[in-house]
Parts: sequence; C-alpha cells; structure tokens
Amino acid sequence: MVNQQQQNNFQVKQNQAAEQETQNSGKCRHCGHTTIAGADICESCSAWQLEGQCCFCYAAVKPGQKFCGTCGNPPEGMVCKQCGTHSIFDFCPQCTNTVSRDAAGYLEQFKTMPEVVEILQQINTLNADTAGISPSQTKKTEPPADTAWLSELEKYEERFQQDGKAEQKVGQESAPQPKFTFGTAKNKDVSEALSLADQAAKLPDLMALEQRRAELESKIAALQKRAFSSNQEARKFYTSLRVTIPQIRTVETVTPVVVGWQCNFAGLVHPRPENCERPYLGGVWVTDFSTSTEKKIVYDEI
Ligand SMILES: [Zn+2]
Ligand SMILES: [Zn+2]
Ligand SMILES: [Zn+2]
Ligand SMILES: [Zn+2]
Repeated sequence: MVNQQQQNNFQVKQNQAAEQETQNSGKCRHCGHTTIAGADICESCSAWQLEGQCCFCYAAVKPGQKFCGTCGNPPEGMVCKQCGTHSIFDFCPQCTNTVSRDAAGYLEQFKTMPEVVEILQQINTLNADTAGISPSQTKKTEPPADTAWLSELEKYEERFQQDGKAEQKVGQESAPQPKFTFGTAKNKDVSEALSLADQAAKLPDLMALEQRRAELESKIAALQKRAFSSNQEARKFYTSLRVTIPQIRTVETVTPVVVGWQCNFAGLVHPRPENCERPYLGGVWVTDFSTSTEKKIVYDEI
C-alpha cells in the first residue's frame, strides 16, 4: 500500500514533469498540436518541425533549396513513386516503398545483416518443418475398422435397418423419414479421441517446434534492442525490419472434421455412404468444425 507521503511525492514529481513539458513544448507548424522540444515531426499530423533542416538528414538548408547538399534529397520531402503520398521519411508512410535516395540501398544492406540473414533462414526451415507436422494433417476423416465400437454400431444399424424394412413393408413405398440418430455422438467421440491420440504422438515434434519458435522470437526481439543516432535512423531501421521479417502471431484456424455420412434412408450416420444400404436416397456428410489456435508466421499487411 502506498502511504500519503509517497503519494504526495509522486504528485509533486508528476506536476514538475508536466510543468517542464509545458515549458519545453511548442505548437505544430501545421496543425497546432502540442509538440515536445526538439521534436522533428508532429506526433499528430507528422509534419516536419525543424525549419531550415533537411527532413532526411537534418543538415542545414536554405529556404527554397531544391536539393540537400549533404544527402541529395529534396529537403522538404518527396512524393512516393508507388502510391503518390508525400513523404518526409525514407520509406513511404503509406505503402512502405523506398522514397529517399539511400532507402533502397539501406534496405538491401539491412537484409544482408548476419542476424537478419540467420533469422530469415530459420523462418524458412521452421515453416517447412511446421508444414511437415501440421495439426490439420493429424485429423482422420475415417475411423479404423477394427475398433470395438464400430462392430457394436454395425449391430445396432443392422437391427435398426431390419426394423425399418419391416416398417416399410407395412407402410407406404416412399422413403422413410429419418427417425433418430444414435451414431453421431459415438462417431464424433472416436474421431476426437483419434485426433487427440495422433496429436499426442506428435507432441515431442510439436514441442521442439514451439521451442524453436520461441528462440526465433527472442532473436527478433534482440535485433531490435538498440538506440539510434537520430529519429529518422530509427524509423528507417524499424520500417526495414517490418517489411523484411514476417511476424509470428497467434492465429485461429478452423478445421472441418468429417464425422460421417448421414443417410436419408434411416437418418443414420455411417462412416461412409458405402456402409449404407440405400445411398440412392441421398444423404449428407456430417462435419464438425473444430477451432484451434496456433502460432503462425505471417507477413503484416501494412
Ligand atoms: Zn513514442
Ligand atoms: Zn501537426
Ligand atoms: Zn539531407
Ligand atoms: Zn507510397
């Protein structure tokens, strides 16, 4: 619990910080938003704040100067060749295309950094290995024939079909309406159990993948732990990273699992139409959509 003295000290410090900020701050030349002292751009509208300085390299420039004598770029920014957005950044803030003279070269250099090369290679092999033991491939659409429950189910089906035939002889010749289904839950349970068993068998592989993913994530994080000589250098670096390295995110995948085939003849859920006596009456595949979350490497849409 925070005591009153600490609370007061905290309040004083907060007030001091706020006061200092007000003293140091100015107004954006473009939109009037409050800016902190020394800010090169406005946080609100991104307008360049350092009058008389090139927006790409901070070198001093005269009013109306067409090109910066230091970096060779127009000191007040230039239009992105790809999307037409006016940019005061090395990379277009709209489409991330290279804008300044050295942006493309910077990006190429960035991509050849040993850490970046290593990360990209690891992402590729991880992708390939993940595809090799994808959880979706562990799903079986058909239960094996040698399980006890299947013969039990077949006995039930036989009996039910005989009942149905007897009933049909008594009633009209039209196709009987589905009466009840007892196969659904059984089939589904077994299908789920099999899927779980399959996943359990692949657990060591999946765990190894998970560990490699975690290592990759910390490598990408380590690459970003650095300070820069200027704001523009930092922006250049992080945009290069964003367009080069795909991100690892948790995504939801929906996997349809076929439980069985429900016939119109008796409304039974068979493993397949081949197990039904009168498939000509039609039927429907019974599908269970299971949702799973997994970590996947995805490229950001910027
Ligand atoms: Zn910030
Ligand atoms: Zn502004
Ligand atoms: Zn310049
Ligand atoms: Zn653009």
